[in-house]
Amino acid sequence: MKTKMAFIVLCFLFLSCAGDMSNNENSLLTDKKYLLPYPVGKAYTCTQGFNTSYSHSGTFKYSVDFGMSIGTLVTAARSGRVIHIIESYSDDDPVGGHENVVIIMHDDTTYARYVHLTRNGALVQLNQMVVPGDTIGLSGNSGSSGSPHLHFDVTKTFGGRSDQTIPFDFKNTKPHPVGFETGVKYEAFPY
Ligand SMILES: [Zn+2]
Repeated sequence: MKTKMAFIVLCFLFLSCAGDMSNNENSLLTDKKYLLPYPVGKAYTCTQGFNTSYSHSGTFKYSVDFGMSIGTLVTAARSGRVIHIIESYSDDDPVGGHENVVIIMHDDTTYARYVHLTRNGALVQLNQMVVPGDTIGLSGNSGSSGSPHLHFDVTKTFGGRSDQTIPFDFKNTKPHPVGFETGVKYEAFPY
């Protein structure tokens, strides 16, 4: 009898875990936890969305670029803690790996990366807590960047360029059922 009970409990645990796993997978694909990474009322053109051959492929598959002139305000897409800042590179330094960046860790230990910021363009301190909409930096053109823009992505790990990006979505803009499209402007709505 004890064995049977143990078996039933094990089955229950297994089914609970399996259920959680599928929910997590689904929530990744419709993850609308994020605000556009710029202030309400502003609109910028997507210059590259998910899964494009130019540079959003491989580990960078789930990334979005917004064209914006150097010095444009960048805001937090989701709350978290600032865990990494690089801001020493110049905007005319095109070397891959020389990207200025702010990285914010969320409560589920995913990481948002705000990339190509201008020199001294981090407007936060290490370990600072931010909430969505907080100003965190100024955009730029540092590192591997064809023209001034903000690259935004989300990863599950924090290590470097080899971190795999994961799907995410922005909730405060117009519907975009086929994803973020190159050449389309996305206005940040009030939230
Ligand atoms: Zn990009």
